[in-house]
Amino acid sequence: MKLFLQKKSLYRVLFLLVVISGCSVSKNPLRKQVKLLQKGIIKDDTSYVYSLPYEEGKTFRVIQGYFSRFTHKERAALDFNMKRGTKILAARGGVVVRVKEDGTLGGLKKKYRSHGNNIVIQHDDGSRAGYWHLQYNSAEVQVGDTVKQGQLIALSGKTGYAFVPHLHFLVWRSGGGQWQQIPTRFQTSKGIKYLRSWKRYKRKAD
Ligand SMILES: [Zn+2]
Repeated sequence: MKLFLQKKSLYRVLFLLVVISGCSVSKNPLRKQVKLLQKGIIKDDTSYVYSLPYEEGKTFRVIQGYFSRFTHKERAALDFNMKRGTKILAARGGVVVRVKEDGTLGGLKKKYRSHGNNIVIQHDDGSRAGYWHLQYNSAEVQVGDTVKQGQLIALSGKTGYAFVPHLHFLVWRSGGGQWQQIPTRFQTSKGIKYLRSWKRYKRKAD
């Protein structure tokens, strides 16, 4: 009996080790680069300055940042915690290339993934921004529309693979068979920044 218990606790330790190693950080070299940009150790003053994707004066918390360990391990993406129905504004102007707004379900189940309502906007340099988990039937734009930075595009929600209502925002470039994720800097009430997990950011008046 004693041996059995010891074995059981040994298994528990092994299980934990597997879990911890499974949560090891991404080896993507972008991860390190982003860290240095966030800390200001590397300076970047040429890339595009995005607006926070919500209304002026509003403040939201980043609950998952770039390459964080939960669902962004390999993603240069940001999750803004916000209740359903929050107005989502274009972080950068461009042309709408994708709108999905017919998804109704959301939660932490793989089968909900295909329900993730989203809008994708292509910018003039060929990069694209994606806005995910939007509320059912809330899109204010259509494919082909030209949108300005700060224009209302939809309402936030919890559709698709989502633990809580939030906006998942990411920028990438594809072409030549290459998929490249792009961490971006934002104008905030405290200056231009690369956003970090667990911090709150206020959008100041432009
Ligand atoms: Zn996310």
